[in-house]
Amino acid sequence: MSRSEQALTPKLVKKLWVAFIALVLLMGASYMLITSYFANKHHQETAQRLNADVANHVIAEKFQNASPFLEDGSVNKALFGDLMHDMMAVNQGIEVYLLDNNGTILYSVVLDPNDKDATKSVSLTPINSFIANKGEKFVLGDDPRNPGEQKIFSAAPYSVAGHEGYIYIILAGKKFQEVSSTLMGQYFAKLGLGATLLTTLFSALIGLLSIWFLTKNLRLITGTVRKFQDGDLNARIENPDKSDIAIFAKSFNEMADTIVGNMDKMKSVDLLRRELIANVSHDLRTPLAVLKGYIETLQIKRETLSESEKEEYLQITHDNVDKLSKLIDQLFEYSKLEAEQVTPVKEPFSITELSHDLIAKFKVLAQKEKIELQLDNPNENCMVFADVSLVERALQNLIENAIKYTEPNGKVTLFIRRKDKNVEINITDTGTGIPVNEQPFIFDRYKQVNKSTKKQGYGLGLAIVKKIMELHDTTITVLSKPKEGSSFIFNLPAYQV
Ligand code: ADP
Repeated sequence: MSRSEQALTPKLVKKLWVAFIALVLLMGASYMLITSYFANKHHQETAQRLNADVANHVIAEKFQNASPFLEDGSVNKALFGDLMHDMMAVNQGIEVYLLDNNGTILYSVVLDPNDKDATKSVSLTPINSFIANKGEKFVLGDDPRNPGEQKIFSAAPYSVAGHEGYIYIILAGKKFQEVSSTLMGQYFAKLGLGATLLTTLFSALIGLLSIWFLTKNLRLITGTVRKFQDGDLNARIENPDKSDIAIFAKSFNEMADTIVGNMDKMKSVDLLRRELIANVSHDLRTPLAVLKGYIETLQIKRETLSESEKEEYLQITHDNVDKLSKLIDQLFEYSKLEAEQVTPVKEPFSITELSHDLIAKFKVLAQKEKIELQLDNPNENCMVFADVSLVERALQNLIENAIKYTEPNGKVTLFIRRKDKNVEINITDTGTGIPVNEQPFIFDRYKQVNKSTKKQGYGLGLAIVKKIMELHDTTITVLSKPKEGSSFIFNLPAYQV
């Protein structure tokens, strides 16, 4: 037995078997009850039809020669007693009653006069119905010896010497009942046993087949789940739509896809993280080594260095500390964006005002580099709906780059234009430009085009910009020609005032 079958056998198959046995027993019992009901009815109907004429016969045969009543009007018990005894000797199952025309019992040998429970009269409705239908309709009448019970009977009216009434014959009397129930008991014991055995045999066969078919798909699914569990990540349930438990099969396949997808994601995040650590340690090492070198020189040669040399060394140390803190800032920011820990808080704000502020902030740096920094249309106030601090960060990186990669006497311009439902932001410089084949990669982390320039940072600036654009469901494009300049363009949703 395979592992999957072992897992299925104890619980599911056991439950199925229990349900099955319960079903078989229930079926057996219902079968017996139904059979007994109809067999009994069939028997009663047959007996009534067969004996329908008995009462008529009694009247025709016996009341012709002798009256059942004496001259004083009382019942001729001797005659009637003989008659009844004769009849009951032939057929012990019957009980004969003499009724008046109200249904009152005048006489019967089977009735004990001291029996207080015995009925004194019977209902005439079934008797009249029986007579009207000439005994061809199945009808039950009162049983005087068992009040409340209904029995098959034969009846016929008489009219003798001024007396009118009925001969009423119960066809399945007490004696009949006793014999019948003994036989029935035996018969049903045999029938029940036979029927149950046969039903069990057939049911077991059908049950085995059904359980095998029912659990076939389940076995298949369990097998695939086990394979997956054992490390075969490509294991999937084939044709899940055709499975009897399609929802389960499909859910498993979807779950497996999600798990594999998440694993891939985790692997790539892990790879990124490792790459980041490797790059960070490399990036930190250079400025740290420079710092260490200058500090050591200052310590060792403190006495011999001139004041201007000391000043220069301190300046270099200062610049490197600046670089380091900027790098750490950028790394921190990028890692947060990469780890999707930043949720943009979007609100309406004036991008024009923000650009004014940034231009004011970078004015000194631009002047130092002899670069003209300006906003193209300073008076048109454009409102956007975005995260102000993230957009500020992106613009800052783009302006910084534009200044960084533009030669003295160059120009950096910010164009802000309303375009339908968006506001287009364009940062154009007259700088070095970017070769066309390099342009697709400049937004990748650590991507630096011209490594020879001293101005370069750490290749994180544009990667951060790209992440910020993604958080705003927008993209940034670059148009650039080497030696002519570059334009970085992106759109933000305009805010309607
Ligand atoms: P870095 O810190 O090196 O500037 P960025 O991610 O900001 O890194 O930019 C990636 C690369 O794209 C830069 O190294 C540079 O070669 C190129 N680049 C970015 N902006 C400009 C620009 N305005 N003009 C020319 N080249 C640019």
